[in-house]
Amino acid sequence: MDRYKIIEKIKTHKGIIDGHSHIGVNYKNYLSYSYPYCLSFEDLVVRMKYLGISYSVIFSMDSSYYTVEPEASKEIKTNEVFSKFPYEIENQSMLKEIYEVFPEYSDMALPFVLFDPSRKTSEQAELLEELHKRYPLFGLKTIPTYIHAFVNDLETKGSPILDFAVRHDLPITFHSSYYKGDPWASVFDIIKFAEKHAEIRICLAHSARFVKSVLERASKLENCFVDLSAFHIHCILAQQKSLAIPPSGERIEADYSDPSSVMDKIVSNYPDTIIWGSDTPYNYFIQKYYDINGNLIDTSLKSSFDMEMKILKNLSEDKISKITYKNTLKYLFG
Ligand SMILES: [Zn+2]
Repeated sequence: MDRYKIIEKIKTHKGIIDGHSHIGVNYKNYLSYSYPYCLSFEDLVVRMKYLGISYSVIFSMDSSYYTVEPEASKEIKTNEVFSKFPYEIENQSMLKEIYEVFPEYSDMALPFVLFDPSRKTSEQAELLEELHKRYPLFGLKTIPTYIHAFVNDLETKGSPILDFAVRHDLPITFHSSYYKGDPWASVFDIIKFAEKHAEIRICLAHSARFVKSVLERASKLENCFVDLSAFHIHCILAQQKSLAIPPSGERIEADYSDPSSVMDKIVSNYPDTIIWGSDTPYNYFIQKYYDINGNLIDTSLKSSFDMEMKILKNLSEDKISKITYKNTLKYLFG
């Protein structure tokens, strides 16, 4: 499959783009009775066809580089039993699955490679360079919370990866956090990074946790987008007054018991900034993890496989077209 042929097809065949999904395995989640823990590309395609999604941005899940333990642990330990550096196996495995096992579906996939901004970044960048020659790649993604790595490291320790992204004009999606016990993926660090780096397109995942000041700042930038991934469970968190979401006054004021109305409001306020993403299968989040203070956070957020689409479908045709196609194309290809 040729990267330019895929881009050409997306630009000429309009369809719903899911800007945020995962395939692969989360070893830790499976061993600790957590959910979700896996999804194959073939199964993602079945869901896409059922729900009417034409293309999906796809990331893998976790990396065997981080010690796999049946319990959540306070510190992230690394080991080189299975891979020599972060996401070594997982990025390759995802691309092989998409382009070699299921080439017949590969023009529905927009794979993004995962990276760790803090550890073994030259080794990661070297492999990414090689993979970029072998397979169509469409962007990068990082989940700093899972691996206790700081967003800001991308400018220092992570510069080989940042250089790789800039050199190939690939956008970067950041998992984001507001919770004070999770300083790794701080929405405030990500928006600052986007403001400093006009040369690269940035996406803040998870509606930037509904932080009003961050959404305002993102909307003023040409290079910055915000995805709505796992929207349903984020609305539940807001209703629960979870510390993961800012309190009233600091967040978008809306009726969080009615997710479609919240989505409609955000899209109306920031029409050129928002892109839709389901976070399949992480639109469920049932797991335990430690925050920076050593507190065990036990989360159990349920949704359903079609909930993100149901919420989206209550928006007007015009808004749906903006956030599932027009804005997404701008994020992906500039
Ligand atoms: Zn995700």
